Amino acid sequence: RAKGRGRNRYEFFNEELQSEIVRTKQTADEILGGLERNEFVVYYQPQFDAKTLEIVGVEALSRWDHPQRGMLTPDAYIKVAEELNVVALIDRTVLEQALDNFERWSHSHLNIPRVSVNVSARRLEDRDLIKGLRKLPIRQGTVSFELVESIFLDENDELVSWNIEHIKELGIDIEIDDFGTGHASIVSLLKLRPRRLKIDRQLVTPITSSTAQRQLVSSIIDIGKSLGIEVIAEGVETMEHAQILKELGCDILQGFLFGYPMDAKAFKTFAQSRKWLAAS
Ligand code: C2E
Ligand code: MG
Ligand code: MG
Ligand code: MG
Repeated sequence: RAKGRGRNRYEFFNEELQSEIVRTKQTADEILGGLERNEFVVYYQPQFDAKTLEIVGVEALSRWDHPQRGMLTPDAYIKVAEELNVVALIDRTVLEQALDNFERWSHSHLNIPRVSVNVSARRLEDRDLIKGLRKLPIRQGTVSFELVESIFLDENDELVSWNIEHIKELGIDIEIDDFGTGHASIVSLLKLRPRRLKIDRQLVTPITSSTAQRQLVSSIIDIGKSLGIEVIAEGVETMEHAQILKELGCDILQGFLFGYPMDAKAFKTFAQSRKWLAAS
């Protein structure tokens, strides 16, 4: 009897594993199909100088315009794309589309100084990354790669370090995303010497209600200042957030208060009206 039960159990696991593999393969195929059909698009969210309120940059954010499920945000597919090893393909199309639009904005004299893209750990493990980047029309200081802190935890990864050094040599800025949530904060700053760090929304949200949280953000801004690293706050949702961050010396503000992520067309209109307002 015990043997029989064991066998059933084995078959149960086996079946479960089997259907898991099928599901995984289906998802991977679905993402690859979506990439082929150009269903992956890019939204743009503006970033503002805390003092002048001029647009100083824009973050490119991936969206999947899914034929059945509608416009999907990254939480619906980025994790699984990472697990299935297809996230680097998404990162690549985001960069290419962002560069295309960046070119257009500069022809329309929209005065957008920089575009930032999110880069997954997987893409930094790619041996051909630099070769591919060299082929792209990237002007010094106009493109920034946002990396999450956990990427730098693996100190022994020589390929990742090599890629990061060469990314910098290509004139692309390195930026630490979601700063303060990745368990490597201070060390990664000293090792990496990024151009900018981005304080995570989780730390920004509570600054209006807690003195301790405000102190924490203040300290991060001071560390950035003392190392010559620009500080961006993400998740700026209220006037109060913006006011406090400005007083604490934060350089750049990004959040729903100033602008939601928008498709390329909406972003162009947004930037044009800002420019017109500034000039009049
Ligand atoms: P992230 O890089 O930290 O991007 C900021 C996220 O916060 C965006 O979500 C943005 O829409 C949202 N956000 C901006 N301002 C506010 C605000 O004031 N309040 C609130 N509640 N949210 C705000 P989104 O576009 O859904 O992206 C989520 C995450 O997905 C990103 O976090 C990033 O880690 C990842 N991601 C996005 N695009 C890409 C990509 O092209 N490649 C990779 N590898 N990851 C990406
Ligand atoms: Mg980001
Ligand atoms: Mg972020
Ligand atoms: Mg975040």
